[in-house]
Amino acid sequence: MSDQQTLKDGRHAVVIGAGIVGTCCALYLQREGLAVTLIDRDGPGEAATFGNAGALGLASVPPLGMPDTLWKAPKMILDPLHPLSLRWGHLPKALPWFVQFTLASRRSRAEAIADVRADLLRRVNDAYAPLLEDAGARNMVHDLGLLMLFESERSRVNVEFALEMRRRRGIKIEDLSGDEAREMEPALGPLIERGVFFPEVCQTVSPLRLTQRLVRHFQDRGGTLRRETVKGFDFGPDGPKGVITDSGRHDGDLMVLAAGVWSKFLARQLGTRVLLEAERGYHTVLPNPGVDIRVPLVSEDRHVTFGPMEDGLRMTSIAEFAAIEAAPDHARAERIFAAARDLIPGLDTKGATRWVGSRPSTPDSVPVIGPAPRFANVLFAFGHGHLGLTLAAVTGRIVADLAQGRRPETDLGPFRPDRF
Ligand SMILES: Cc1cc2nc3c(=O)[nH]c(=O)nc-3n(C[C@H](O)[C@H](O)[C@H](O)COP(=O)(O)OP(=O)(O)OC[C@H]3O[C@@H](n4cnc5c(N)ncnc54)[C@H](O)[C@@H]3O)c2cc1C
Repeated sequence: MSDQQTLKDGRHAVVIGAGIVGTCCALYLQREGLAVTLIDRDGPGEAATFGNAGALGLASVPPLGMPDTLWKAPKMILDPLHPLSLRWGHLPKALPWFVQFTLASRRSRAEAIADVRADLLRRVNDAYAPLLEDAGARNMVHDLGLLMLFESERSRVNVEFALEMRRRRGIKIEDLSGDEAREMEPALGPLIERGVFFPEVCQTVSPLRLTQRLVRHFQDRGGTLRRETVKGFDFGPDGPKGVITDSGRHDGDLMVLAAGVWSKFLARQLGTRVLLEAERGYHTVLPNPGVDIRVPLVSEDRHVTFGPMEDGLRMTSIAEFAAIEAAPDHARAERIFAAARDLIPGLDTKGATRWVGSRPSTPDSVPVIGPAPRFANVLFAFGHGHLGLTLAAVTGRIVADLAQGRRPETDLGPFRPDRF
C-alpha cells in the first residue's frame, strides 16, 4: 500500500461497483487519504458505462420527464421507430416508478429539476479536471460540442421549450440553418433543415478505456481492485461494518454503494427502497463507417446519436423499460439505427457490433447521492440515468466531502435516497 493511502487518514472505504461512478468515488476518496477497496463482479466499466454515447453532456439540463412527455408517451410507445419502449409485462412492477415520473413531469417540478441538474452540470469540468490530469487521461476527452439535427422547421419548434430551459440556465446554444449544420459537419446529407449546436459538450474517445485508465491510476496510487460479487453487508451491533462477497469479507469504516441499476437490491438490505428502473439503451458501432464524422450528432427526428469514438462510429438510442435481465430486442434497435443512417449518406455497416445496457434511472432524472437513511457510514451514489458519465466526478467529489464531514457545495436535498 502506498504512502498516499496510509498517510492522512486511517480509515478504510469499500466502494461497490467499478462503473464510472464508483471509479470516480474511489479516486476522490483516495485523494482524501482513505485506503480504498473497489469491488466489481466484472472488469471496470463493463456494464452501463461500457456502451454509452460518450458525451459529457453539459447541456443536458432538461429532465427526461417534461410537461409534454405524458401526452406524447402513448403515441411514442406505439411507434415501432420511436425509442421509447415498454415491456408490458414489466408494467406492474414499474408502476410506482411511473407514478413518480408522472408527478415529476409537471411543469413546476420539471423547472425545479432543471435547476438541480444545471447546478451539477456547472461543476462537471472542475470535478473531472484533477482526475483526468493525474491519470494522464486528458487526451481521452475532447471539446467537440454536440450538434442537434432537425429535418423540419416543425421539429425545431417542438424543442423550443427545452432549449429555452437551457438558455435560462446559461447553456450556450447556436442556432444553425441546414447549410450551416452541413458546413460544420460535411458528412450530413440533404435531409437536415435546421441545427442547434451546443459548444460546451465534450466527448470521450471511449468510456470503457477512460474508466480502465482511471482505475489503473487508482491502483498505481495503492488502491485495491477486487473482482468479486457483493452479496450483502456484514452487520455489527451498530450497523454495517463491511461487505460480504462471494469470496469473503471486506471490512470498511465507510461503504459506498455505486452499483448502478443493481444498487437497489443492496439498498434494500439496508432497509431503503429506492425507485430505480433499468432504462435500457442500445448501441451499434460501425468500425469502418467510411465517412469521417467530426462532430457528435443527435437527431431529434430519428432519436439516435452518432458519436465518433476510437473504435468507430457509435450510434446509440432507445429507452426501454424492462426487467434488467430481459432478452434484448436487437431487431427493434436495428430498425431504428437503419432509419437514422439515411441522415449520413454512404455509411458502411460492415462488421457492426451491437450492445444493450441498463441506465440506472430514477423517476425524477436526478441521482441518489447521500448517506443511507438508516446507516450514516454507507453512502449511496447511483441513479444517474442518462448522465452517469457526465456526473461521475461531481458525485465523487460530493462523496469525498461527505466522507470528511464537510458540507458539499451542492445542496443534497434533491438527491436524498428517501425522497420517493
Ligand atoms: C445507450 C446509452 C447511452 C448513454 N449515453 C450517455 C452519455 O452520452 N453521457 C452520459 O453521461 N451518460 C450516458 N449514459 C448513461 C451512463 O452510461 C450511465 O448513467 C452510467 O454508465 C452509470 O454508471 P454507474 O457506474 O452508475 O453504473 P454501471 O456502469 O452500470 O456500473 C455499475 C457496476 O456495479 C457492478 N455491480 C453491480 N452489482 C454488483 C455486486 N453485487 N457486486 C459487485 N459489483 C456489482 C457492475 O458489474 C457494474 O460494473 C448512456 C447510457 C446508455 C445505456
